[in-house]
Formats: sequence, C-alpha cells, structure tokens
Amino acid sequence: MALRRKLVAGNWKMNGLRADGLALAGAIADRARGRSPSCDLLVCPPATLVIPVGETIAGSGVALGGQDCAPADKGAFTGDICAEMLKDAGCTYVIVGHSERRHGHGESDDEIRVKVAAAWRAGLVAILCVGETRAEREAGREVAVVTGQLAGSIPGTAAADKLVIAYEPVWAIGTGLVPTLADISAVHHSIRSVLPHDTRILYGGSVNPKNCGEILSLDEVDGALVGGASLKADDFWAIAEACR
Ligand code: PEP
Repeated sequence: MALRRKLVAGNWKMNGLRADGLALAGAIADRARGRSPSCDLLVCPPATLVIPVGETIAGSGVALGGQDCAPADKGAFTGDICAEMLKDAGCTYVIVGHSERRHGHGESDDEIRVKVAAAWRAGLVAILCVGETRAEREAGREVAVVTGQLAGSIPGTAAADKLVIAYEPVWAIGTGLVPTLADISAVHHSIRSVLPHDTRILYGGSVNPKNCGEILSLDEVDGALVGGASLKADDFWAIAEACR
C-alpha cells in the first residue's frame, strides 16, 4: 500500500444508539463492498458501538477506530478504555488529541504524547489531531501552534506507517467555516516539513460533499477527518468518492 493513499475517516463522536450506528455502518459497508473505494475508509464509532460496528463492517475493507484511548495500559482508571482494548475489539486506528479533548477536557500535549505512545504499544495507528483556535489564526500563529503541538505530542521518532496527522482548525470544526485552499496547503506543507515525508496528513473541519472535491484535490492533503458529514452514509460516501 502506498503510504500516502488517501484516508477518509468518520468521527462519529458521541452520536448513535445501537440501531442508528449499525444502520450507518451497514450502509457504508454495503457501498464499500459494491464498489471498492479509491481511498482507505475508516469509521470511529462511540465506544459502546465499537464491537458491533466491527462485526457489521467485517470483510468490507472499512477499518475500525477508537475516538480516544487512555494513557495507561490497564488499572484503576474508571471510565477509561486502553489502546489494547480497542485493538482487542478490532480497531486498527485511534484518534488522539482531538480538539474536543484538548479544549473540552483540558488535555495537554504531554498527556496526548503519552496516549500516542500507548496507541503505538498496542499496535494501533494514532491519528493525532492538531489545530489552532480562531484567536491564534487571527494572530497569524497557526503554523507556530500546530508545529508546537506536533513537537509536544509525538513521542520520539515518528514513523509514517503508525502516525496520521489530522490538521483541524478548532474554528472550522462543526461551524461550516473552512480555511482557504491556500491556507490548508500552507499549514499541511509546514506539518510535512517536520515529519517523515510519507506521513499522511488529513484535513478536518466542516468537510462536506460540496467542498470535499477541491480540498481533497490539494497535493498536500491525504484525506479527511469528517465529523458531522460522516453520520450520513450518502455524504460520507460522496467524500470517499471525491478521492477518485
Ligand atoms: C471533527 O470533529 O473531527 C470534525 C472534523 O468535525 P466536522 O466535520 O463536523 O467539522
């Protein structure tokens, strides 16, 4: 597999009861079985649905991921789920450092770095999210913020086959706002300059079937991390098809 084959990943966040989640997973898997997508596909359901969604997508080529993992491998951490549990449940990826964890739960680069290391110990690919706030963008600090997050959140030496970066400006997540194509390219280029060249760098933040074509056609963009639009099979599939 070419390391920079595009990846379209759906982050379902805290959405979906069993019936909804399995219907969504089934609809995505059916499309993937019917016409093999020209990109890698990944769904990251809420923790309660990881195992049944894994069973639903089995054999479809769609990969399974967790939305977060604990820094520790086991022990007295009520409510946490460790990376090895995700692996055991069928996951091959885990999202780490999403802005809803960094800003909503106050996670620091140090904590995120330990989580990335935990993901790697369990044999998972870590999807490390980075991105600036609106104020940081307005101050022209986006590259400094993002490269600082990378420096603080990646343990030791990164290898392109176990790390995916998702550039997600905080102000673009769930808002319908998207940076200009030139701005996306510029930040992705800065990210690539400090990582192994083959590292996949996804863009995330209000990607939808209308704007995905031009975003995914950028040389520096190796796929998308999709929130809201990943909850509709047709929209998610349209984004995957835009990689063609
Ligand atoms: C996300 O939360 O990772 C995300 C990109 O959300 P949305 O697509 O809804 O902006």
